[in-house]
Amino acid sequence: MSESTRSRRDQLVALAKETRGFMPDDEGEALLEAALRAGRAFDKATFLEIGAWCGKSTIYLGCAAEATGAVLFSLDHHRGSEENQAGWEHHEPDLVDPSDGRIDTLPHWRRAVAVASLESCVVGVVGDSPTVARCWRTPLAFCFVDGGHGEEPAWADYRGWAPLVAEGAWLAIHDVFEDPADGGRPPYELWRHALDSGRFVEDGHEGSLRVLRKAAGGRR
Ligand code: MG
Repeated sequence: MSESTRSRRDQLVALAKETRGFMPDDEGEALLEAALRAGRAFDKATFLEIGAWCGKSTIYLGCAAEATGAVLFSLDHHRGSEENQAGWEHHEPDLVDPSDGRIDTLPHWRRAVAVASLESCVVGVVGDSPTVARCWRTPLAFCFVDGGHGEEPAWADYRGWAPLVAEGAWLAIHDVFEDPADGGRPPYELWRHALDSGRFVEDGHEGSLRVLRKAAGGRR
């Protein structure tokens, strides 16, 4: 790695760490490393993240996209998941837009991407994940699932996007807790299902981040 490449990575990792969000530092760096593997394995790779919030994971993944000539599509409706709404565990009142009382993380996401100077390789997609998945045709070299953690949105993300992961490409799932005492079930169940389906094999983990790789020529 050249000196300038290293310093750019260090700069982006430092920015990601400062950015608002729920990704622990070691998991963010593991996410970045996994996306670098994907970016190197696929020419002009397409990355997708589902669940961008205020842009923390976007910067980790954008760093890998920039370094490998990939493009990251960062998908979120920016209205917060169920667990972010008032009265729930991860509610942050200052993210509510006073004009309509709804969460709006898009301005925060946009600022994070601009401050990181990643606008040339990160594209924001604002909308509903299953709707976008239905219209999406480009095979994914890297797909990061970190959207709504309730049963319905988590499975909709998996069913919508896992088939669009290219053979030999990567699927990462966040907030996978093997012990139910540590967190909600759906991300764990997606991860288990992906492995049990025979379509994906393990390719690393860090904390609650699980990295999978789609078996080439595997069952579909
Ligand atoms: Mg998460």
